[in-house]
Amino acid sequence: MKVIKFGGSSLASAVQLEKVLQIVKEDSSRKFVVVSAPGKRSSEDIKVTDLLISYYQAYINNQATTAIIEKIIQRYEDILDELALDKAVLTDIAQAIQHLSTLSNKNNPHLLDAFLASGEDNNAKLVAAFFKQRGLQARYINPLELGLIVSDEPGNARILPSAAAKIGQFKETEEILVIPGFFGYTEAGDICTFSRGGSDITGSIVAAGVHAEMYENFTDVNGIFVAHPGIIHNPKTIKEITYREMRELAYAGFAVLHDEALMPAYRANIPVVIKNTNNPKHPGTIITTSRMVKHDPVVGIASDQGFASIYISKYLMNRELGFGRRLLQILEELGLSYEHMPSGIDDISIILREQQLSAEIEEKLMHHLEAELEPDELRITHGLSMLMVVGEGMRQRIGVMADSAVALAENKINLEMINQGSSEVSIMFGIKENQEEKAIQALYETFFDA
Ligand code: ASP
Repeated sequence: MKVIKFGGSSLASAVQLEKVLQIVKEDSSRKFVVVSAPGKRSSEDIKVTDLLISYYQAYINNQATTAIIEKIIQRYEDILDELALDKAVLTDIAQAIQHLSTLSNKNNPHLLDAFLASGEDNNAKLVAAFFKQRGLQARYINPLELGLIVSDEPGNARILPSAAAKIGQFKETEEILVIPGFFGYTEAGDICTFSRGGSDITGSIVAAGVHAEMYENFTDVNGIFVAHPGIIHNPKTIKEITYREMRELAYAGFAVLHDEALMPAYRANIPVVIKNTNNPKHPGTIITTSRMVKHDPVVGIASDQGFASIYISKYLMNRELGFGRRLLQILEELGLSYEHMPSGIDDISIILREQQLSAEIEEKLMHHLEAELEPDELRITHGLSMLMVVGEGMRQRIGVMADSAVALAENKINLEMINQGSSEVSIMFGIKENQEEKAIQALYETFFDA
């Protein structure tokens, strides 16, 4: 059986819900349906989750809540009306939304989570009612009944190991279970949500718990693109990608799936498929443990901005005992984490995310490095972009680095840094941010458009 998850844009209106119904009907093995809260109907629209945050803020600041409550209920009512559904479920939804403003707002670390979770909870009720009226044998199931037990970390929960066996008990379900994504319950019975976008995590956990044959994640794109569509017009979609490649691409700004959503499915060896609700015939992208890498050594090219590089050079650095340790200690004492550390015989660079560096921290950092390491040369470069060429196939194929470097050189792109991790799953180039678009285009042509 399969676990299928629909994102907010797939559930934002009646038109979308009709598509969802068709998709679920088409394949009787789709027994576990995980839903997000209704998302945006157009680019100007507001997600229900964001409306709930406004509602929460009004409530804790003792401001009027009537208008925002009405607006949220209206979102569900619009969908029910358009579907010509029985209004019974709306009473239930309206009550649940109103009930939030009776919860204690004193010393209640789970209050925001309760508000946020209601977006998916109510939507799961609505979707279950819709399925039932259209003849499917379906029911809403609460995460507590399902056994989705999570750690007590409001807004950032993690699944607890004990959950898997509980969820597993539902494996043989005859009915379609409609599950609200994004939250679980702590052992003490409080609602705790995952971080934003966390319905993807619910789907992955359920898939692992019931040993599904597949976890299908339906969204509003045909799959994962080989390069960013904002830079490459109509990029190809990736047919098959491994978990490791996915992790590398996600690091550099590929945000199709929540970062934490891969792990549960990965550990349970369950393939994840990214598909498009608006184009379900498209095969989408499949994420697996291994793939045939003979023909395409590179699966994707990603990039992320906002990096700085600190260059330190000192003659005979290689023989100076404890140099690296002292360097890292300075970073640690200033609360700075670093991303990469390419090095040579007499020099080393530290690449970090710029947002950590206020003017004051940067000054302190440079001062400490100068005073404690006594380098021959020390400089910081801002405004760097990290380009990643990703693919497990590069381990077996000679020349991926050469092809990339030639493409970049021909386009007069200066390489500030090169890093090929020991895993040989990716090659990373540090370049100036203003050359990023040109660089991605050059690499796309080399690997996907040749
Ligand atoms: N509705 C939540 C959010 O907007 C969770 C999700 O959609 O996955 O973050």
